[in-house]
Amino acid sequence: MNKIYLYNTLTRKKEEFKPIKKGMVGLYTCGPTVYNYAHIGNLRTYVFEDVLRRTLEYNGLKVKHVMNITDVGHLTSDADSGEDKVEKTAKKEKKTVWQIAEFYTKAFRQDLKDLNIQEPHIWCKATDHIKNQIATIQKLEEKGFTYQTDDGIYFDTSKFKNYGELARLDVKGLKAGARIKLRAGKKNPTDFALWKFSYPRGRSFDAAQDNVASRRQMEWDSPWGLGFPGWHIECSTMSTKYLGQPFDIHTGGVDHISVHHPNEIAQSEAAHGKKMTNFWLHGEFLIIKDQKMAKSGGNFITLDSLKNKGVDPLAYRYLILTSHYRSKLNFSWKSLTAAESALKSIYHQVEQFDSPKVGRAELEQKFLKAINNDLDTPRAIAILWELLKSNYPTDAKKKTLLEFDRVLGLGLAKIKKKKLSIPKAVKDLAEQREKARKKKDFSTADTLRIKIEKLGFQVLDTKEGPNIIKKE
Ligand code: AMP
Ligand code: ZN
Repeated sequence: MNKIYLYNTLTRKKEEFKPIKKGMVGLYTCGPTVYNYAHIGNLRTYVFEDVLRRTLEYNGLKVKHVMNITDVGHLTSDADSGEDKVEKTAKKEKKTVWQIAEFYTKAFRQDLKDLNIQEPHIWCKATDHIKNQIATIQKLEEKGFTYQTDDGIYFDTSKFKNYGELARLDVKGLKAGARIKLRAGKKNPTDFALWKFSYPRGRSFDAAQDNVASRRQMEWDSPWGLGFPGWHIECSTMSTKYLGQPFDIHTGGVDHISVHHPNEIAQSEAAHGKKMTNFWLHGEFLIIKDQKMAKSGGNFITLDSLKNKGVDPLAYRYLILTSHYRSKLNFSWKSLTAAESALKSIYHQVEQFDSPKVGRAELEQKFLKAINNDLDTPRAIAILWELLKSNYPTDAKKKTLLEFDRVLGLGLAKIKKKKLSIPKAVKDLAEQREKARKKKDFSTADTLRIKIEKLGFQVLDTKEGPNIIKKE
């Protein structure tokens, strides 16, 4: 078994990854909030998680991958205020919340497919797990971690030792600084909602007092009255339900390090009295013109808009792989175009390769070392080019490339060999060139190479002799 090293946000160190159960990995990835299309920044995070899963599988581990769908409870502000994002869109688009959630979930799954991202083994929707979430809140209540305000049930973060450890939060400093702005009824600035009331103190809808137009479509009965779960409780509840506790790896984007993930840890560990997850991995942002790509910002680019411009989504995947997941990636159309031509060039070469035979163990080993070193995809891509540029026979190149692609996911297995008819004139020139090369007459060989290229062909010098392919 090869060693896998992953950077754990919890310890801020690269650590050797050892699964809890031999040969198995429980992986939880925070999924989308389905009120809009995912932008290509969100999708960068899902590609990083896909590479993580594929790397674990490449190492022979069996991964159980769980992803949630947030279809309720994610408010427009992370401070538990504002409107529910799904409800807000439903009103704007004059649809039901269920239609909105279904539409954007479908769009998201199409994005995953286009980017060759493997679907999780278990999809779990927040609205399918309301009872389970209520049960977790009750457990927290029994253990004394909750309190009630006018608008909901809150988690008292001062009761949880080491709250904010993941984020290295200075909780005391926060408390001193935020005393004046504390939201009504909240005891500590970091406290967060577990259950939100639809109407103050959990009473029912009252047409005389409540705004009919703003009535929620999604609300459920609970021991505390009519309402809906807070955003964080779904991840704690569903990760434990499907993966147990502790489980191996939890991932998300870096924006989750400060609020969402510390809250998940507090809930899960307070409720069950044991560690939630061994490894926390976070993907850095995609930025555009020095700004984070955000759903609320004007710099929102979807995968569909790339497709409409005729870009192969896998060219975007290639672009993502050229930078390390813990570095910011600056998106530009120029870099996307460069990625597209690099990918086309790979496809073009693979189309002309012979059927896979025995691969090149030394390069495969080098590749494994790179990806097992905290998913070093830029290095892995460099090794891919080293292979392509080498003079190994094309059947060996093909075999090793297909191995690499189990992790990179660039769709190389689907590339069929192209039948190539080579004109006699080209064959003759290639033969003359080979003779010149053997005589070490490189200047004649070079002139002949140019002539061959003018006819639209190219000669690759492999260990098995010259190989004629179509010029790009
Ligand atoms: P959301 O649907 O807003 O909950 O976000 C889905 C995922 O995308 C989360 O893991 C976020 O951390 C991540 N994310 C949000 N913005 C970006 C960005 N600009 N670049 C990379 N990941 C992002
Ligand atoms: Zn989550």
